[in-house]
Amino acid sequence: MEAETGIAETSAGEGAPDSEGRRDLLDLSRTDLDAWVEAQGERPFRARQIWSWAYHHLVSDFASMTNLPAGVRQALVSEFTLGSTQVEATSTDTDGNRKQVLRLSDGETVEAVVMEEPYGSTVCVSSQVGCALGCAMCATGRAGFVRDLTTGEIVHQVVDAARTLAPRGRRVTNVVFMGMGEPLLNYEAVLQAIANLTEPAGLAINPQHITVSTIGLPERIVALAGEPYAVRLAVSLHGADDETRAVLVPYARQVSLERLLAACRTYARVRGTRITFEYVMAAGVNDSPDHARRLVSLIGGIPSHVNLIPLNPVTGCDLSSSSLAVMERFREPLTKARIPVTIRFSRGVDIGAGCGQLRGARSGPPPERGGAPRRYPRRGRES
Ligand code: SAH
Ligand code: SF4
Repeated sequence: MEAETGIAETSAGEGAPDSEGRRDLLDLSRTDLDAWVEAQGERPFRARQIWSWAYHHLVSDFASMTNLPAGVRQALVSEFTLGSTQVEATSTDTDGNRKQVLRLSDGETVEAVVMEEPYGSTVCVSSQVGCALGCAMCATGRAGFVRDLTTGEIVHQVVDAARTLAPRGRRVTNVVFMGMGEPLLNYEAVLQAIANLTEPAGLAINPQHITVSTIGLPERIVALAGEPYAVRLAVSLHGADDETRAVLVPYARQVSLERLLAACRTYARVRGTRITFEYVMAAGVNDSPDHARRLVSLIGGIPSHVNLIPLNPVTGCDLSSSSLAVMERFREPLTKARIPVTIRFSRGVDIGAGCGQLRGARSGPPPERGGAPRRYPRRGRES
């Protein structure tokens, strides 16, 4: 697929075999597994059993797949690993949001956040180590790009979360691609991960409960609209005109809002769903009533929902968040135009792991947050 950003892309998806020549089973699609089972001379239902052990019963080794013939288990052990990442550290904040730091096979780390709510559990996953897009307020972007994650590395974040939830009778109901990286720049691996997560014999996550958050690559958004998985789309706008947006998002100098919004219209029409527009509120940059009115004319007519997000402080970035009063004033023209708005308090902030602010492995310990501004509500407030 052709890059839209001018940023070099690697072709991820499947990871390289380990030192013993074993591949990651979580990289495989259901079709790949069917083909492997057939090549072993086994009956097709064995593929369903293996998938179910890995993704439904969430076992962490092949020996636990007790209804498989010993020979199949042995072949699995010699050809595959069951996930290639290790949970290195886990921390929990006062709201019970849990951050998992995962060590990848090449020593890099990524982070995922598990948020438990009464209605279910959401996992915020990373799609890349670092990010090439360099948004001003983003800790991941400031650390630069290292590499794409493989399908298995993305899937493993959800499988690990599901393993921690299962003993309490809970399951993963929602997945948001709002961790480290730009998912649409790792398109093939992200798409295969979505396929694996939604597969009925395994985690069976409803595609409509999966949200892909993107800085907004128009051609990829249109491509995603044509894929077999009706996932939700969140677009990080952060500005209602190209110039203002470029203060936070340098990529805005390459792709105009006009092109981006045309792609959003297509996505909303093809899928028949609302687009979520994320709007990080930066004091004195994009938060005036005039900016709010421009936002109304920009997105008016697109079925949408706007999330106003306080900018969380990041080391090395001198932007600060708008106050709650400014955010409430900003909300007014949107509400008048009947655009649903939520003033969102980013979850996971206590542990330095607010979605989208996960910090690259190379950039040291979690940023000094100076505490998340407590004057904001702990949960989204919808008008
Ligand atoms: N690359 C994708 C997904 C990861 S970022 C994207 O940009 O959409 C997920 C969200 O976190 C984005 O909306 C991003 O703008 C937001 N974010 C990044 N840094 C932030 C910060 N310091 N404070 C609040 N939100 C931030
Ligand atoms: Fe990348 Fe998203 Fe961070 Fe921008 S906000 S640098 S696109 S991860």
